[in-house]
Amino acid sequence: MPFVLQDILTQKIQLFTNNVSVSIRREDLIHPIVSGNKFRKLKYNLVQAKAENQKTLLTFGGAFSNHIAAVAFAGKENGFKTIGIIRGDELRSKIEKNPTLKFAQECGMQFEFVTREDYRHKIEATFLENLKQKFGEFYLVPEGGTNEFAIKGCEEILTKDDSLYDFVCCAIGTGGTICGIINSILPHQKVLGFPALKGDFLKEEICKFAQNENWELITNYHFGGYGKVNPELIAFINQFYVENKIPLDPIYTGKMVFGVMDLIQKSYFPKNSKILLIHTGGLQGIAGMNLKLKAKKSLTIDFQ
Ligand SMILES: *Cc1c(COP(=O)(O)O)cnc(C)c1O
Repeated sequence: MPFVLQDILTQKIQLFTNNVSVSIRREDLIHPIVSGNKFRKLKYNLVQAKAENQKTLLTFGGAFSNHIAAVAFAGKENGFKTIGIIRGDELRSKIEKNPTLKFAQECGMQFEFVTREDYRHKIEATFLENLKQKFGEFYLVPEGGTNEFAIKGCEEILTKDDSLYDFVCCAIGTGGTICGIINSILPHQKVLGFPALKGDFLKEEICKFAQNENWELITNYHFGGYGKVNPELIAFINQFYVENKIPLDPIYTGKMVFGVMDLIQKSYFPKNSKILLIHTGGLQGIAGMNLKLKAKKSLTIDFQ
């Protein structure tokens, strides 16, 4: 990828207690679009695609997907054609109204809209074969970008200076990011993962790639499921910005940070624990979420 990774900022968080300390790693500042873990997950996939002499990247995602935006942009910057298989046939006529899809299209991404039913079959051989017939050869970046190359990239999130932390906390979608973090922690550290969706399949997924057992899933901060929010979460995100000047996204990092703050209040962490939160980015999705919230006359995300 063309931009150079600077030392990534780590900031202290304001707390209501002195019992623990909390810092946040600002991976969201890597890039406005290819931010946080999507940069980490794409990095070695792009290296691999180039090594295979591939010209086209093909991937999958939903209407507000950070991954779709990241692939579209990174593909453009690195000279790949990009194809996005988008979940939801009804979106075909709504590109203009969807900030994520509009951005991806402006980066040159070509879309294929599929029904939710077809989308479920997307990793089956016949579905992929049909895509090959239609688009020619491509490098397949899996949904959410999780594969061995993605995990290798996420193993670079923590550095040796992070050995001072007792806990490392991150949000979970497909589980790729947390696997990279798990594989790079030291024996005295523990990783807490906060799934952004309901589902028991995650534990199994993570076990496939995780090389140690110093981790735990905290499963009760998904706020009803993937992409679901409520005014309490939105108010938390807005207040967190007022106090720390750090924007969180409503799908992943907002839920994780809400969960950590709630656990601190419930004295979950031993006294004097040093906690590191990983800000995995995702801020591009806020515009789309605010459009949905506004339509429902609900509280919107407001950073000022
Ligand atoms: C995609 C994403 C995640 C989830 O990462 P996984 O590797 O799929 O678990 C977390 N946070 C943000 C901001 C994301 O965009």
